[in-house]
Amino acid sequence: MELTKATLERIADIEDKIHAYVTITEDIALRQAEEADDCIRSGNITLLAGVPVLIKDVICTKGIRTTCSSKMLENFIPPYDATVMKKLKAQKTVILGKGNMDEFAMGSSTEHSAFFPTRNPWNLSCVPGGSSGGPAAAVVNNEAIYAIGSDTGGSIRQPAGFCGVVGLKPTYGRVSRFGLVAFASSLDQIGPITKDVTDCALVMNAIAGYDPMDSTSVSYPVPDYTSCLNRDLKGLHIGIPKEYFVEGMQEGVKSALEAAIKKLKELGAEIDWEASLPSTKYALAVYYIVAPSEASANLARYDGVKYGFSEQKASSVIEAMEKTRQLGFGSEVKRRIMLGTYALSAGYYDAYYLKAQKVRTLIEQEFEQAFEKYDALVTPTSPTVAFKLGEKLEDPMQMYLSDVCTLPINIAGVPAVSVPAGFVAGLPVGMQIIGKPFSEETILHIAFAYEQATDWHKREPKI
Ligand code: GLN
Repeated sequence: MELTKATLERIADIEDKIHAYVTITEDIALRQAEEADDCIRSGNITLLAGVPVLIKDVICTKGIRTTCSSKMLENFIPPYDATVMKKLKAQKTVILGKGNMDEFAMGSSTEHSAFFPTRNPWNLSCVPGGSSGGPAAAVVNNEAIYAIGSDTGGSIRQPAGFCGVVGLKPTYGRVSRFGLVAFASSLDQIGPITKDVTDCALVMNAIAGYDPMDSTSVSYPVPDYTSCLNRDLKGLHIGIPKEYFVEGMQEGVKSALEAAIKKLKELGAEIDWEASLPSTKYALAVYYIVAPSEASANLARYDGVKYGFSEQKASSVIEAMEKTRQLGFGSEVKRRIMLGTYALSAGYYDAYYLKAQKVRTLIEQEFEQAFEKYDALVTPTSPTVAFKLGEKLEDPMQMYLSDVCTLPINIAGVPAVSVPAGFVAGLPVGMQIIGKPFSEETILHIAFAYEQATDWHKREPKI
């Protein structure tokens, strides 16, 4: 209860500067905190009992508004809980509210929220990254102890990097997507955003596992993710894929990464600077065919008939649907729907969608080959630190480029974690550690060893 109250006070004090929350569920939080205290008193203790969490507003929460930061779902209250919510509730965690994001998780800055942008607690004129900008900003700013995000092309890792916290995108199939509002179903994964690696492992223990409600979830044993955390990296082979040190990368980010990799070596890892994933250069193009194609199909359901925003001023059903979508969606969402519908249309399907699927297979195979040699790959999470609000808003290509290092990982379906690895001009730098499918233990082990040998994760923004 004390922790919940302190966090709610922090929110009350600071939230008008940050705007991390779309909905604050104070009453629910206080009630749940009381229930958690009762459980703890009766000796029924789980590790997340009484710990307050912020949930990205793309995950369905029974009885709590779930907007996807879109006008389309502004008043949508789900009648059911996502599987991760059920699992977290079973742990007696405390739900503080719903986190701001780019509309339907499309974006890299949280500026595409239909409601308001979120600000980066390290510098209020900068973006927190996206699309899970609200969750990442809240965690570093003590407006939540941890958060749950979703990641389709970088939406957990990139904001974690920009805000100086830990963010893990699990292997595709590791965490149930049931109740996650779909963006691109073959890429989407739910994962934790936390203050440190130990918390990340604890949250994974709670949310990972097979779910009969998600046909893509995998029935593979869930280890205790905390048991692999130790400080020694001896015997581990780490590859540094040169294609990720991209053109246009910020000099400070590059030198921070080089120093971090040197640290991994000191800790006993064997580093190979010559690793290569040559098809990486096609990843952005593949992503911007596959993700919008799936989005155009997934978002077809928002027609104003069964739920969500509905424009009634129309003379026919077709006109009502057209107006609903015209007024309900923001410009980035419309851009994705158009890109996807085009790529899937007869005559273009083979040239775009099918071709992209073939290149996707190539990218997957390159990761498989790399993992025959290496236990993990290390790259920057993003080519730059957080940018200024408004800086990339009018230039979608520049915005898309901020995910060049993260989206190949979703294309391949493998796990990756971003950990704080330095600062450039007062803004955090993220290091991305990528693993083979279902090797979350290995990347968390590396992340933990690095974290314990540095103090980046202990710094806090002063606002
Ligand atoms: N920024 C990427 C996009 O706009 C990724 C978003 C995400 O991971 N949800 O599609």
